[in-house]
Amino acid sequence: MAQRNTWQRDRVREALGDAAGFVSAQDLHATLRQGGSGIGLATVYRTLATLAASGEADQLQSPEGEAIYRACSSTGHHHHLICRSCGRAVEIEAREVEAWAQRTAAAHGFTQAEHVVDIFGLCETCTAAQAAPATTAAAVTAAAAADPQGAAATAAAPAEIRD
Ligand SMILES: [Zn+2]
Ligand SMILES: [Zn+2]
Ligand SMILES: [Zn+2]
Repeated sequence: MAQRNTWQRDRVREALGDAAGFVSAQDLHATLRQGGSGIGLATVYRTLATLAASGEADQLQSPEGEAIYRACSSTGHHHHLICRSCGRAVEIEAREVEAWAQRTAAAHGFTQAEHVVDIFGLCETCTAAQAAPATTAAAVTAAAAADPQGAAATAAAPAEIRD
């Protein structure tokens, strides 16, 4: 590579900084394209890897095994709480984890131990959205599909009620 496209790197870094939480290369690529940038997906992948390697971005794996990135406010060692639905992230300290990791490594004769601990869940907003009526209707439909006889019995029940 003779030429280094620093403008592309700047655009990726900028977009990452604007993102509300952890994003995948594909997410970021889509955002950049919406903003009118002709940047390629391969370039976004490569640039994110470079930013992660230089410590300018945090990289971790989503539960689905996808690499996700964030421009973190703290550069030191830290952990995250990440919403698996919207990607929103909270940086957290985990003193118990630090002590436990040191102790466990030492107990097995390990030195220079490092660890990666992140918590994936649903944020408050996404939890509230999941509790919305639309989700309940879908759950009822799913339950009926899973147990057609039970659903049929329930549907037939009112006809058997006499007074
Ligand atoms: Zn972070
Ligand atoms: Zn969320
Ligand atoms: Zn830690």
